[in-house]
Amino acid sequence: MRIEEVTTGIVKYKESYSDKLGRYLVAAKKISPGEVILRDNPIVVGAASFNDNSLCFSCFRVIEPKPIGLKFPCPKCKVAIFCSKNCETRESFHTPEECKLLKDKLSESVNLDVRGILLLIRLLLIKKRNAEQWNQIMNLEAHLEERRNTLVWKERQEEIEILKSFEFFENDEDLQRLCGIIDVNSFELRSPGTLDSALRGLYAEAALMAHDCRGNTHLTVDDDFQLTVYANPEELGANLSSIYCPRCKEGLIRYEGKKMNPYLREKKWKCKKCQRFYSGALIKTTLELTKTRIDQADESRIKELETLLKNFSAMLHSNHFLMMSLKQKLLALYRKEITCLNPKKKILQRMMELCKGILQVLEIVEPGISRLKGIILYEIHLPIIIIANKDYALKEITSEDLAKRLEEAENYLKKSLSMLLIEPASTPEDRYRLRWIIKKLILK
Ligand SMILES: [Zn+2]
Ligand SMILES: [Zn+2]
Ligand SMILES: [Zn+2]
Repeated sequence: MRIEEVTTGIVKYKESYSDKLGRYLVAAKKISPGEVILRDNPIVVGAASFNDNSLCFSCFRVIEPKPIGLKFPCPKCKVAIFCSKNCETRESFHTPEECKLLKDKLSESVNLDVRGILLLIRLLLIKKRNAEQWNQIMNLEAHLEERRNTLVWKERQEEIEILKSFEFFENDEDLQRLCGIIDVNSFELRSPGTLDSALRGLYAEAALMAHDCRGNTHLTVDDDFQLTVYANPEELGANLSSIYCPRCKEGLIRYEGKKMNPYLREKKWKCKKCQRFYSGALIKTTLELTKTRIDQADESRIKELETLLKNFSAMLHSNHFLMMSLKQKLLALYRKEITCLNPKKKILQRMMELCKGILQVLEIVEPGISRLKGIILYEIHLPIIIIANKDYALKEITSEDLAKRLEEAENYLKKSLSMLLIEPASTPEDRYRLRWIIKKLILK
């Protein structure tokens, strides 16, 4: 997924400093919506601590459990696993130093799952390799004092004790600082080809964007984890952070202030319809409460997630990023449902509806070739085919209708294939998966 190239030679942001935020980036020139603000490659990438998938140590693709998934253990350390021979030879993430460390410290007798602390190990290894980059990392905000002796501090201390067995000689304070730096500055990333944000990546330049400024931007990340920051494409009609006015319930509220931080007490958020003003602090609290309710929901229950989606729809635009994350969670559940023998038509229709909604947003925020779009396009075609065949079997549609619907499904599939095939970083597994899709298409 390469969108357009950054305009080179124009400095769009500059570094600034405040006592409260530490160092951060501010726009140096007026940026129009949808414009690329910066591109950045990660310093490190690792799994989020709650991620219990088997991941390739190089490209972070999910390695499916056997017998489908092929797994290539690192021939040297035998601890790291890769998704392919290709990844085995890439040293950008599983570096020779990391390989040696894992080999030395994790013999057969010490059976330790390093996934949860891999990100920390990778950061600590930078210290020996690149002192300048290490200083850059340690200068990032850690909110150390706010964290001291809290629950998160104690949890991280457990990880720190494990790290010590790897003979990193930093003191506890520095290691806690490093944990803080990750928590404050890292970005949530997806494993390539999935919709779950279960990875974390640290980016030197993007980390400097003041936190509240992130609300005014939109991010995309390609399969090599290059991060692109766009000015908010709200005006393009994506409405990724649009909220409905609680008073008139019809107008959308927009931030009209000029500050970098839109979530202050000042009443600078205005309803387009009834003109009422709201404070940034209120908007922030509302979003935080909503996010907490989503986080606390039982992710395995369709009904619960659908109810949340319905309840929030009075308050959030259907394209709002919180609604999108709920829809993606639902889609994952429906995907499981339709693999059963005789999926209900209602479920198939709902899946189609969700796919179309997500696709509509992707068309705006990821124009052109996009892997994610390729996946969603693939997902749409399945329910269309099943519904068409069901309706035809029940004599609810004519054979011409059936042909028309199958053609529609085929068009989605073709479009999907064109995106997935063009994908520059396609691995042997991708090609394998594609061959499987094409075979299914021919057998249809
Ligand atoms: Zn891989
Ligand atoms: Zn290795
Ligand atoms: Zn209003």
